[in-house]
Amino acid sequence: MATINEYYDRLAAGYLFPEIAKRARAFSEKNPGVKLLKLGIGNSTEPLAPTVVAGLNLGADKLAKVETYTGYGDEQGDTRLRKAIAAEYAKLGANVADNEVFVSDGAKPDVGNIQSIFSPDCVVAVQDPAYPVYVDTNVIAGRGGKYDAARGCYDRMVYMPCTEENGFFPEVPTQKVDLIYICSPNNPTGAVATKEQLAKFVEYAKKNRAVIIFDSAYSQFIKDPALPRSIYEIPGAKECAIEISSFSKSAGFTGVRLGWTIVPMECVCENAAAGKLNAMWNRRQCTFFNGASNVVQEGGLAVLSEQGQKECKETIDHYMENARIIREGLSAIGLKVYGGVNAPYLWVKTPAGIKSWEFFDVLLSQAHVVTTPGAGFGPHGEGYIRVSAFGHRNDIIEAVDSVKKNLKI
Ligand code: PLP
Repeated sequence: MATINEYYDRLAAGYLFPEIAKRARAFSEKNPGVKLLKLGIGNSTEPLAPTVVAGLNLGADKLAKVETYTGYGDEQGDTRLRKAIAAEYAKLGANVADNEVFVSDGAKPDVGNIQSIFSPDCVVAVQDPAYPVYVDTNVIAGRGGKYDAARGCYDRMVYMPCTEENGFFPEVPTQKVDLIYICSPNNPTGAVATKEQLAKFVEYAKKNRAVIIFDSAYSQFIKDPALPRSIYEIPGAKECAIEISSFSKSAGFTGVRLGWTIVPMECVCENAAAGKLNAMWNRRQCTFFNGASNVVQEGGLAVLSEQGQKECKETIDHYMENARIIREGLSAIGLKVYGGVNAPYLWVKTPAGIKSWEFFDVLLSQAHVVTTPGAGFGPHGEGYIRVSAFGHRNDIIEAVDSVKKNLKI
């Protein structure tokens, strides 16, 4: 008799974005012909850089000739790409070896899968608010405990509040936890951890034999050279941190799909000596994954070429200019705006203390602008909305103008 994984039933209310889509659809049905201006989902909108397209074409062309055709590749990724990713870390002063790099089809699958190499008993700490995948994948794996609807929390998980007072980066937990998810630059708050802040987590993890899962999917958006782009810029981090990253936002690969995970040889935990976690992730990937697309990996190599980096930076600059337009526009009408300086997300405090979903509805009905309610990212997201800087320039300008003209609150 088959039975289901009942932990799926513990997942709290449906995913955030379907609810947003539902409300936007309902508005459009009631107001036919009104154009909706979308500042909601963090999806890339600008075309791929020419050098990257050439790389993808090269990958496809190679498949057309018997001399260059390849079938299954290494599960861990093309050696050239692993080396190129390791070389990016070297530029940051971080020492990452090729065999510590695992190429994948994106950061989201890796974020979801990495928990499988840890015990179901592990206590998980997340930033609050956080990218929902950290919480949901651990709930499915049985680490959540019961959902407390009144608090909006799972009772076996530790929520690390990210508030206005702490600059949206948390203090280390006061109790003992085993797995700690940190996202910097942060989705949704747009906050970036300093080296000193990350050093405190590294110290905590080493003391408690905990492991940090560091999500650096937005690292390329950091402009301030003093801010760390990788946790491995912090001394000792290789002993306690796994880093997951992505080509999605830095190169427009949201639909193309490519990412990577670094599992350092030195990384240890309570019952894993040096090399064990790396070997386990290798085993996991070899068992469940057949390698990232060879065409896409060729594109990834083009992204990391000197010319590719130059062109991708222009697209990032475009999104960051969008962020500036949003930040200045919304600040000008008295809204309190955070983030958007070293990250493509802006975290906007709701006016007059209204709830996130209420402000979402006000912006939708008055300005026809779609945002993301902060409450969907965790209890401490209440009272904020997330605004995304991904979008075409004209749409961004139109949306900001509409809020400035039409918001009456
Ligand atoms: N990590 C964070 C923090 C994200 O916000 C996202 C996507 O929005 C991802 C990972 C997903 O990355 P990928 O497209 O590589 O799966």
